[in-house]
This record gives sequence, structure tokens and C-alpha cells, in this order.
Amino acid sequence: MYFLGIDIGSLFVGAVLIGQDNKVVRSEYVRHSGEPARRVREILASFPIGDIVYVVRTGSGGDAASMIGGDCIDPVVAGVEGVRQMIPDARNIIQIGGGSFSLTRLAEDGSYQHSAINSACASGTGAFLDQQSLRLQVPPAELGQRAMRYDKRPPAVATRCAVFAKSDMIHLQQEGYTVDAIAAGLCAGLGNSTVDGLLGGRALVGKTAVIGGVAINPVVVGAVREKLGVEVVVPDNPHLAGAFGAALVGRQRLASGNAAPECDFSFLRRDASSPTSGRDAHGDLRPPLELKLSRYPDFKWHKHWVDGDNSEIAIPTPRSGPITASFGIDIGSTSTKATFLDRERKVVGWIYRKTAGDPIRAVQLLFKAAREMEKKGGFTLDIRGVGTTGSGRKMIGALIGADLATNEITAHATAAVFIDPDVDTIIELGGQDAKFTQLQNGMVYNSVMNYVCAAGTGSFIEEQSLKLGIPLDEYAGRAMGKPCPLTSDRCTVYMERDLDLLLAKGWDKDQVAAAVLHSVRDNYLNKVVGGLYIGDHVYFQGATARNRALVAAFEVELGKEIKVSPYCHLTGSLGMCLLAEERVPEAEKSARFKGLGFADARIVVDYETCELCHNRCNLSLIQADGATLAWGLKCGRDYGEKKVKVRDNPTYEWWRKRHNAWLSLGPGGHGTAGTKGRIGILQSLGTYSYYPFWKKFVETLGYLPVLSTRTSEKTMRDGAGITSAEYCAPVVASHGHAADMLSNGKVDWLLVPHMLREPASDGFTDTHFCCYVQSHPGVLKAAAGLMGKDRILSPVIQFNLPPADQAKSMAKGLAPLGVGEADVAAALAAANEAYAAFRHRSLELGQEALAWLERSGGLGLVAIGRPYNTVDAGLTLDLPRKMAAMGYPVLYLDMLPYDLGSILPEFANMYWHYGQKILAAANYVAGHPRLFGVYFTNFMCGPDSYILTYFKEIMRRAGKPYLCLQFDGHGADAGYLTRVEAALESFHAWSKIARPDLAATTD
Ligand code: SF4
Ligand code: SF4
Repeated sequence: MYFLGIDIGSLFVGAVLIGQDNKVVRSEYVRHSGEPARRVREILASFPIGDIVYVVRTGSGGDAASMIGGDCIDPVVAGVEGVRQMIPDARNIIQIGGGSFSLTRLAEDGSYQHSAINSACASGTGAFLDQQSLRLQVPPAELGQRAMRYDKRPPAVATRCAVFAKSDMIHLQQEGYTVDAIAAGLCAGLGNSTVDGLLGGRALVGKTAVIGGVAINPVVVGAVREKLGVEVVVPDNPHLAGAFGAALVGRQRLASGNAAPECDFSFLRRDASSPTSGRDAHGDLRPPLELKLSRYPDFKWHKHWVDGDNSEIAIPTPRSGPITASFGIDIGSTSTKATFLDRERKVVGWIYRKTAGDPIRAVQLLFKAAREMEKKGGFTLDIRGVGTTGSGRKMIGALIGADLATNEITAHATAAVFIDPDVDTIIELGGQDAKFTQLQNGMVYNSVMNYVCAAGTGSFIEEQSLKLGIPLDEYAGRAMGKPCPLTSDRCTVYMERDLDLLLAKGWDKDQVAAAVLHSVRDNYLNKVVGGLYIGDHVYFQGATARNRALVAAFEVELGKEIKVSPYCHLTGSLGMCLLAEERVPEAEKSARFKGLGFADARIVVDYETCELCHNRCNLSLIQADGATLAWGLKCGRDYGEKKVKVRDNPTYEWWRKRHNAWLSLGPGGHGTAGTKGRIGILQSLGTYSYYPFWKKFVETLGYLPVLSTRTSEKTMRDGAGITSAEYCAPVVASHGHAADMLSNGKVDWLLVPHMLREPASDGFTDTHFCCYVQSHPGVLKAAAGLMGKDRILSPVIQFNLPPADQAKSMAKGLAPLGVGEADVAAALAAANEAYAAFRHRSLELGQEALAWLERSGGLGLVAIGRPYNTVDAGLTLDLPRKMAAMGYPVLYLDMLPYDLGSILPEFANMYWHYGQKILAAANYVAGHPRLFGVYFTNFMCGPDSYILTYFKEIMRRAGKPYLCLQFDGHGADAGYLTRVEAALESFHAWSKIARPDLAATTD
């Protein structure tokens, strides 16, 4: 008599058969590759079906085995039963599966107490690790072992969602980190974020069991152990704990007198190709993917082969003898490409290969392939002019001695215009980035890139092809012509969840493959293109254009011809051939190029941390044949020069002066400041934005204001460790600031006011601060891990009320200080004066900057957003300073003389305070010939989810390019700088104003 437990997750099927003694008789665990029902059938084919008396199904895909019958239970319940049997004294269970993770607490007697599951946006877990393994070209089962090989402290990888992880991993690749190091950072990051996501700063007591497929990864478990600080154990076969628990539940139910539910194994005898569970065929279907308007290239080459290192090599037409050619290399996050272009501008040959997390190795193999191409093609290359593009362009460019390194958007657009001078629109879905470029007369006038949440694109399709078990080269053929159900396009997490559900319901895999393409296209059109104009000469570029069905997905939706070049996957490297030829003087071409012999260079990478200044840069020392390239020196010093390099940055002056005014300005002296004690002010949220106000307020009350230190990685780490829910980065940072202020007796009190409203200007209905700002004291008090909360002062301030009412309400909240309404009223009056003075100074500086701009004839950038997420260098990776260093004055929006009334009557209902300012500043920028807007926003920012749409609309109407940067408190700036560089190209093209001469100075 046997009991069967079946656990169907988003990636794997586990089955465990136990006997009456609870001992495991048989077990299986296989990847279902999008066909869970089929896998169940294959597993059970060899099980002793006739002796099974009770079946219990569990897991997110438990429905896929509904044809068997039996009971179906929650995966948490199954996990608890499994652990109770295997580790009876465990008090906590962390379950990390393919699509979710959870924490269950048990009482002393083992009875259930409480459980928590990850929220949608943190989901991924096992599937997340799988996706990243694919990116690193490491089999998922080996990821943990590869991570174990790295014996130093793992580099930081943000694992809040796949998109941010990808950004950080690409950054590490560019810094020269090995695949083992990146794997270690990824696994440790996942362990840490799992604990943060489940505990929100609370502590665990007692032995903790970790189960689920991810529990076999030792580095993830090690990070969980270190973070929890309690005894953490992993049972044997942790990946089967759910199926085992399900089988146990069946045995218990029968033992306690329940009748066994009916089971039907007859499906084992039916044809395996017929659907095994009822598919929900109701509802709308998407139209089949077909190409009716577009001519698709046949990708035929004179010679085309794949070498022993998996590099795809092609020679388009027969060639011979010596050929002078320019050489373009595109080092992307997922693939690395090379093109050789002769002096007649004909492609001599091209190479395409995976980057596999190691750009240096990828380029060496590319060079090796180029030599094979010469040999098999019967020609020799005389390389004159070398250009690099892609995320690894700078490091690789320096390493191989390239003549120039240029951002991808310029490279792709150059190639597109070369292929068809009439092109006006470029759709591009790369492995990591999605871009939309608009051109006029062969010039880019606007280019937008996905700001993190729209990412996924090419790599998402690749991940789904792996999950569905459909090889990429068969994907288009299988998805073409298939109508399919509707799925989400919101972000990869939601898209994936829908696809899992379809598979569990038994939808055909090919239809699910088609649904993936519809979702990716909709995501791109909604999140990247927004409402921007799509022209009549539309080119689809990037390796994803080799997926004919994805091209069809665009044609079906847009109803116009989508052009694809046979070189669609090479446009980055082709563009660099053209740029190297055009922009590098003849005498300087290939002057520093190391030659194709770089393929054999012995490369050793070492790491060190520079301690010369507070930046503590992580340096990669890349030794290639005796020469050392030091990479990652933020100040740009030569490695041999052992001191920080200080550079003048005149275009940063106005921003710096505004910051100084913010820190120090206030009329009058400090009076009795400091005599009564110290009151802390958070350098975050509302108290950041209004610091001059709160500083003066505290001083006037006779206390010493103490501002928390600037946001750092530690602030974010500490904040993430104690937040009680998932918040935007500024709120997480604020938790970190509060923890710092309340620790070690730094302050007597911490002032965290409920800032509710500003007075509504004429024509507006209301003027609120964000609800997180309004409720911030309450949010902080709910953080279980925050100590010293009794010292938080949380008065309510509504700037829209008459002064006497404000003073009354504030005095109530400041009762612990023993101040009266009259004291508070005087302090409020002084604070208002100080804040007005600061605002005045800010505007003055803005006028100076604008006057300079007119005199110099250049372009200026306006940072648009809230002060605490735009001016705080710790949350923006110091990008305003970095943009200024490129030769552009950068102004914060409050330095502009914008008119709030300019957004009326259209936005009279814009009730967010900063929403009004943002849109008014956007209007000002839209109408100014020399200013361009850079919108700073945050992942998970509720108000920006629509304010940003309005901002884009204002720019669209003005026909003006802009840039949006979305942050999440993670640490890699490379992707952002690429976006900045590309945006600057389009700002210049739009305004026809020349690039700045960096030698120019202010007068
Ligand atoms: S900025 Fe320069 S001096 Fe400072 S840590 Fe980095 S490399 Fe060293
Ligand atoms: S406005 Fe956005 S970024 Fe600011 S606190 Fe609210 S949700 Fe966070």
C-alpha cells in the first residue's frame, strides 16, 4: 500500500512514493520544460500504480495533474509536513522554489503558527537563478558549485528583481569579474534578498530548515545562514520535501479515517500527444502571427559555419587576397559580434557568439574566429580602424587598443542609415536593452531606452524558450500562425506567471510560445515607445529580429511593413566599422590596436580595493601578456599614481552651490541652538526636500539640528534589513537613515514629521505629498527591527493651514519637548523665512546657469524629480555630477522660473505637490531651446507611474527628446551612463547645437 505525493512547480515536477512506514520507496525530480502533464505521465509510467491508495497533489501547477484525481493541498502545508518528518525540531521553514519563496513558523510543539510568502515583484527565486545561469552560460545545476569556487567576498548583485540583477551582472562583467565571482554575487544576493523579503528586519528564533529546489545551492543557503544568525539546516533531498510532505498528508488522512479520494491512472494508457487536461478555451484569442506586409530576408551567405568554440562565422560573398577593412566589435550583455567592412563598404565577414558573462574571453574567441575566417575564406585582413560598442565597449576598447568606443544607439543608427538612408524608425530589442530610435534625414533626433522595468526582451524570449524546451532556432517556426491566449505585458514577472498558468491548464506549448512574443511586443510598445510616433520606414534591429515570428508580432499590431536587414543582428558592429572609418583620421587608424594575436594573449585578472579616498573603488587589474590594465578607477587616476585625481568640473558649479545653500542657508544666527539637546533630521524624503526649513525650525526651538549622513550602500543595506514591506528606494533609504540616527546615542530626538500638504495654487484641486511621505513616521514605527522608536517626534504639518493652526498641531506632536504653541509659531515663521531664502538662492543660481548657457551657446540638462530622489547623490549614483563632467550644466528643477499655472487647465487634478512642479518644469524645458529634461524616478514609485506618462506626453507634443532614468538603490552606473550618452547624441541632433568643448571654462 503506497501513498503518492506529486509536487508541480513552475519549473520542475517532483514525485515521491512512500509506504505505510513513511519510508520513501521511489522518487523522481525532473524539469517539466513547459509540459508538466507529460512529465507526470513519464514519471508514473514506472511507478507501481496498482499499489497506490492515496494521491496528494501540490505546487503552483498542481492542476496540471488533475486528471489523476486525489487531493490537492497548498505547497506550504506540504513543505511543513515534509520538514516535520525530516527535522522534527525545526521551528522555521524557508521554502525557496522555482516561482516563489515562503517562511513558515512553527510553535515549540511543531504546530503551525504563521507563514509569509514573497510579493509578486520579488518573485523569481529558482526561475530567477535559472535565467541568470543562462546568461552566464552555466548549467543551472552547476551554478552553486561555480559560486563556491570564488573564495573572496562576493561582489554585490541586486537581486530584488531579474532586471536589476542583470544590470549589476553586466556591470561586473565590464569590470572584468570572472563568471565564478558573478555567480557568487548572484547566489549570495539571492540568499540575502530572500531573508529581507520574508523577515523585513524581524529576527528568527530556533532551528531553521531550508527546502525547495534552491536549497541545494550551498552559496544561497550560506548567505541565508549568515544573515539569519541562527542554526540553519538543509534536509536530504530538500527539492523533494514538498512531494514527500504531500505523500505524508495522504497517509495521515487515510490513517485518521478519511476515505481515499478517487484516483484515475487511465490517462497513462492514452495517447501522449492528446491534451491531458481541459484547456480553458474561453475568452479572446490573439490573432495568428503572420507576415503579410513585410519582406523577410533569407539570411543566405556564401560561407556560414560554427567553429569549435561556438562562434557563428559568415562570409557573405566570395573574397580573396589581402583586404583592407575596418573592424567593429559590439560587446553586448548576452552576445558579442564582429563585422569587417572593406573600403568599398561591403561586408567582408561577420562573427556572432555568446558573451557568457566573460567579455574578455568572448572577444578572444572572436579574434580566434576571425583568423579561422581568413583561413577558410582565402583572404587576409589588413585592419585599418577599430571601433567598439556595447556594454563592454570601454574596457574591451582599452584592452585591445581600439580607436574609438561609442554608445550603441549611435552605432545602430549609423548602420541603419547606411542600409537604408530613408529609415525613420528603429525598433531594437537586444538581449538586455530595448531601444526605440526616431530619425529624420539620417539623423537621430530622439532615442529612448527601457528604464529597467521594461527590460527582459531578447533574454526573456531565450529564457522562455529554455523553459518551454523549444530550441531558439525552432521558436519562430513553432509560434508562426498560432492564435494564442491573452497574457500580461506588465513586466517579465507577471508575464511569466501568466505563462505558467497557461501551461498548467494544458495550453499547447507553441501557442504559449506565440503568447510570449505578443507580450514582449506589447511591453515594448507600452513601456519603451509610449505614445511616440512610429514612422513609415521602420527597421527592426538586433538579434531578436532573426525571430521571424517576433517581427510578425510587430507587423500584426502596427499594421505596417517592418523591414529587417540580413545584418540585423550585427548593426552595432557594422555601425562601428562605419564610425571608425569616418571619425578616425587615416594616420591614426589602428595605431594602438593589438591585432588578432590578442586571441592568444595570456590574461590574468586580479582585484583590489583602492583605499586612497572614501570611494573605495573596486579595481580589476587585467594583465594581458605582461601589460596591466587597471579598471574601475572612478577618479581617472593612473594606477601608478598613488593619489586621488582631482578634476575641475565647472559645469557642476551651480548644482554644487545649490547644495551648499541647502546645507547652510538660513537668515539670522543660531540663537540658543544646541543648548537644549540634539534633534536628528533625516537626509531623506520630506525632511531632505525641506531641510533648510526643518533645520531652522529646530535651531529656533533651541536645539542642535543633526543631519543624518549621506545615503550610502550601508544606508540601503541597513534600510532593506528592517523595512516591514516592499518600498521604493527612497523609503528604504529613509529606514537606513533612521536606524543610523537612533543608534549609538547620536541624537536625543529624531524629527520625522507627517508632512501632509502644501497650499493648492490657483486652479488646482489640492496639493499633497506622497502617501509614504505623509505617513512616514508610522511606516518607521512599524519597522520591527528599528530600535529607539520612542525617540521619534512625529508632529503633523499641513502647510496649507493658517499659521496658528499649524502651530497648534505641531505643538501637540512636539509635546515630549515641552514646547508651547507660541514657541512653535515663532520657529515656524523663522523656518518659512529660511526656506524662502533657500528657494530664492536656488532660482538665482538657475538664472546664472541659464545666462551662462546663452553666452556659451551650449546645452543644459534639467534633473526632473523630487529632491530626495534626484539630488541625493547616494540614490542617483551621483549621475548629475557625472553628467556635468561631460560638459553640460545640470540644473535641479527648482532652479527654473517655471510657472505652475502653465499646466492648467489640463492638469488641474494633479494633486501631488511634486507632480505639479515636475509637470511645470517639464513645460518650461519643453519650451526652452537649450534645455533638455532628464527624469529621475524610482522603481515602485506609485505617483510616477502616471506623472511620468504626462511628462512624456508634454515632451512628445513639443517633439523634444528626453531621458528617463529609473533607480532602485543598486550600485552599477554603466547602464545609466550609456543611456545618458545616447540621449546626449539625440539632444545635439535635435537642437543642431555642437557638442561641448570640455576645455571650455566658466567665466
Ligand atoms: S576615486 Fe580614485 S583615489 Fe578614490 S578610491 Fe577610486 S581610484 Fe582610488
Ligand atoms: S513619490 Fe515615489 S519615490 Fe517618492 S516616496 Fe512616494 S513612491 Fe517613493
